[in-house]
Formats: sequence, C-alpha cells, structure tokens
Amino acid sequence: MPKGEIMISVDEAVQIVLKKAKRLPPKKIRLESAQGLCLAEDIKSDSDMPPFNRSAMDGYAVFAKDTVNPPVDLVVIENIRTGYKPKKKIGRGKAAKIMTGSVVPKGADAVIKVEETISLDGGTRVRILNKTERGSHIAKKGEDMRAGKMLLRKGTKIRPQEVGILAAVGADTIKVFSVPSIGIISTGDELVEISRKPKPWQIRNTNSYSLAAQARQLVEDVEILGMANDDKDEIRNLVKKGLKKDILILSGGVSMGEYDFVGDVLKDFGVRIFFEKVALRPGKPTVFGKKDDKLIFGLPGNPVSTLVTFELFVRPCIKKMMGFPFYENPVLYAELEKEVTVRKKRREYRPAFLRQAGCKWKVSPVEWHGSGDLFSTTKANCLLIIKESIGRLNIGKSVEVIKF
Ligand code: AMP
Ligand code: MG
Repeated sequence: MPKGEIMISVDEAVQIVLKKAKRLPPKKIRLESAQGLCLAEDIKSDSDMPPFNRSAMDGYAVFAKDTVNPPVDLVVIENIRTGYKPKKKIGRGKAAKIMTGSVVPKGADAVIKVEETISLDGGTRVRILNKTERGSHIAKKGEDMRAGKMLLRKGTKIRPQEVGILAAVGADTIKVFSVPSIGIISTGDELVEISRKPKPWQIRNTNSYSLAAQARQLVEDVEILGMANDDKDEIRNLVKKGLKKDILILSGGVSMGEYDFVGDVLKDFGVRIFFEKVALRPGKPTVFGKKDDKLIFGLPGNPVSTLVTFELFVRPCIKKMMGFPFYENPVLYAELEKEVTVRKKRREYRPAFLRQAGCKWKVSPVEWHGSGDLFSTTKANCLLIIKESIGRLNIGKSVEVIKF
C-alpha cells in the first residue's frame, strides 16, 4: 500500500485489529498472581459450601419447638467454638452455646441470637426470651454451592471475588490465558529523557510513560525500550528488540513528514501493514501491522493522539489476546451538558467529563486545545464520541462516551 493512501473508518480499523489479535495459549500460575487475568479452565466445586450446617450468629443452638412459649429456660450442655466438632446431641430442654461459623450440633434445628437470651447460673442454663423458627440463623450444608457444581467458566475475568472462590475450592494453581508482553518505543528528534531539562526546542518524552501506564492497567510485562531519533538506523535498532514482544507500540514518526520513518522501517522488517490512516481526530496517522504472531502499533506522537489511539485500538487488542470474551470498549450513553460544534468528516473523540445526575449520565467536553494538550485530559474522565458527518451537538442530546 502506498504511504498513507487509504483512510479507513475507526470501526473498520478496530475490526481489523481484533481480527489479527489472537488469544494467547493457556499457562499455569499460582493463585496469588491471578488477579485481573482470564481463567482458561472450568472450575467446579470440590465440596459442599458451607461444608456443614453452620451457625450464622453467636447465640444458642436449640430445638425450635422448645421455644414456642417464651420465656423458657434450657440446660446448656456444650460450648461450641469454631473449628470444633460438637460431641453432644441436643435433646428436649437442652441447648448449646454456639459461635458464628461453628457446626450446628445434632438435634438442634435453630440458632437463637445471644441478644435474645439471658445466661443463668454461671452459664449452665440459658433463658430464651423469644420464640424461634426452625432453620433460623443456620446456613445449610451445601446451600451456597454443591460438590461438583460448575462455579467459574473458562473465560471468566478473575476479580477478587473469583480469587476467593478459587481459594475456597483449593485451586492453589490455575490455568489462565497468557498475557502479551508489551514493548514501547518513542521516536522523535525533539525528545529528551524526562530526567533532563529540555532545551527550548526540545520536549520531554512523555508518551513512553503514559503508554506504559495505560498498558499496565491490564498487564505487568511492559517494557519501555527507549527513544530513537528520527533516524532509520536508530529506529531499526529498537524495533529489532521490540519485535521480541507480543505487542510493540511506537509513538511518533508516522505522519507524512520528511522524517517520519516508522512505517518504512516496519516494512523493511517485513511487517505487513494493514492500515496507516484512520478517519479519526485526534489520531489520524495510526499504523497497524503484523509480523509472524507479533502485532505492531505505530501511534501518532501528539500525546492526546497517543492516549486516544491506545484506548481505541490497543486496549481491546490486549484484552482479546488475554482471552476475555468481552474486549471492545464499553459505550455509555450520556446527555450532553454543553453545546459542541465540530469540523465534520472524521470521527472525533473529545476529552470530556462524565458525571452521574440522578439516574442519568451527563457529559460535557473539557476545555481542550488539540492533540498536543495532554493537560486537559487530566480534567477528563471519558472521551465523547462525535460521529462522522455531525456538525453540531445541542445541549440535551444523547451522545456516546467511553470511559478512560
Ligand atoms: P509526530 O507524530 O512524530 O509527528 O509527533 C507529533 C508531535 O507530538 C511532536 O511534534 C511532539 O510535539 C509530540 N511528541 C512526539 N513524540 C512525543 C513523545 N514521546 N512525548 C511527548 N510528545 C511527543
Ligand atoms: Mg516526530
């Protein structure tokens, strides 16, 4: 494809990326490292949960019929702590003191809260003040889950509650889908490392850091590989390293300028380029390609363009490779609070602020001076989507946003 000839829509570009992004193979990991990953096996319960009839209160295990005419005094025959196996059966006129989480003894069919009792004679007897029903304050054996029951399906995102369930069934190692390794390269003659004070004609390399931070929201294995000047050999040296990663992200050097060499270098490496221009603002000169099973993104260098194109193309790509069944950016509908005028043709993603007002979402664009104005995005919590060929959006209009 000649440089920059064909411009495709955002939707087409996303679909191309997703088509090329393949789920990575499963691997075994320890449960402690599973948070945020995608389960690659079905998990069944290895036992009933609760594993025994469990008291849900501190109080007394009783035979409910004994309490029909309160107050009634019962003989306390045992003190049942957690982690203890009751030794005695509760007969008529008897009770056992019991703690939350303890095993309900044989013969007892209810637990009465300690607040509804008075301990008598140094704890050898108890006065029950209220009537209780059969089954009250007892969590039945197996009521939460039965042995053999399917608990978590392959493809489930592992959140803290899933980690807890995996722990509860003894899954100390589990299979998850592998996570892509990611390399980041920034290009541009004007860039200096962030520890240095830029000369008046230079700028600090912010993109490597913001991109790495975006990637690290999903994966750990993110490496900033360095900066290259707008020089083919320098870019080549870094790209060579970067192609060892599952995903390589470059920033800068993808426009039509005389010194924009990223596309050329990628082609020299045999990277197959699928698109180089997207009808998008900010972020038109976005490059996407593939070499063997490595995916390569060349994102435009203006910091907001970099941020936006990562959200639109790279984030769903990473999620799909990680195995998640839902990987596209979720779209919310919100009511516009400020009028927006647009320059049409290309779809726009504008930094905006989303807030909840009663049962509605409301959104207003933040003051923004264009794709170089990263500071404005710190005031934003979403991107307001302005679809192609819309000239003006009036207050009150329902618009689409993606959170970021
Ligand atoms: P480019 O995409 O190479 O044409 O870069 C466009 C503009 O983005 C440059 O003029 C810089 O001001 C800015 N830029 C490029 N790379 C970076 C970077 N790594 N960090 C911050 N700003 C950058
Ligand atoms: Mg440049």
